[in-house]
Amino acid sequence: MSRDRRRHPGLTVVSGPTAVGKGTVVAELRRQHPEVFVSVSVTTRPPRPGEIDGVHYLFISEAEFDRLVADDDLLEWAVVHGRHRYGTPRGPVTAAIAAGHEAVLEIDLQGARQVRERWPEAHLVFLAPPSWAELVRRLVDRGTETAEERERRLRTATEELAAESEFDTTIVNHDVTGAVAELVVLLGL
Ligand code: 5GP
Repeated sequence: MSRDRRRHPGLTVVSGPTAVGKGTVVAELRRQHPEVFVSVSVTTRPPRPGEIDGVHYLFISEAEFDRLVADDDLLEWAVVHGRHRYGTPRGPVTAAIAAGHEAVLEIDLQGARQVRERWPEAHLVFLAPPSWAELVRRLVDRGTETAEERERRLRTATEELAAESEFDTTIVNHDVTGAVAELVVLLGL
């Protein structure tokens, strides 16, 4: 699993291509280890059915996002899949780490690269699909995107898969239980 086990970093980034299961893996990690701080991102994307403001994301307007960027209140942010903006509010992450918690960010590749620059000791984890065919299957099964949106996400996924070598550790997401178990070891929980 581990290619370059870093010192206890405080901040761990989980990234990887669309539909690989990042959200599910991180949600299960939080369920098993409520003491881990999992950042809630802000986004300009509208909520999907069942998504709760303040739980899955903080759903904000373009103007509110502009204000957070201008005030330097985001640890990182990016336009993801060429459409909506997503970002990590800085304050809650630094407060959690200062209080001695492990902090986990589930963000895209562009965000992971920004964290690498701004927080060099962060541990970057790449969640990889078992295969390309499996990734496509998971995206189709999820059924939350239109055909056009799926195409867009798969184009991004091709680039994201090529970036795996930039990460400290790769975890292959064969199943949620196994991936979470590897993450737990990595975080020293
Ligand atoms: P979705 O729209 O499916 O919830 O998320 C789309 C992508 O945005 C996912 O790859 C997810 O990891 C990424 N994402 C979610 N929150 C953030 C964030 O705060 N920053 C960045 N850079 N990407 C994010």
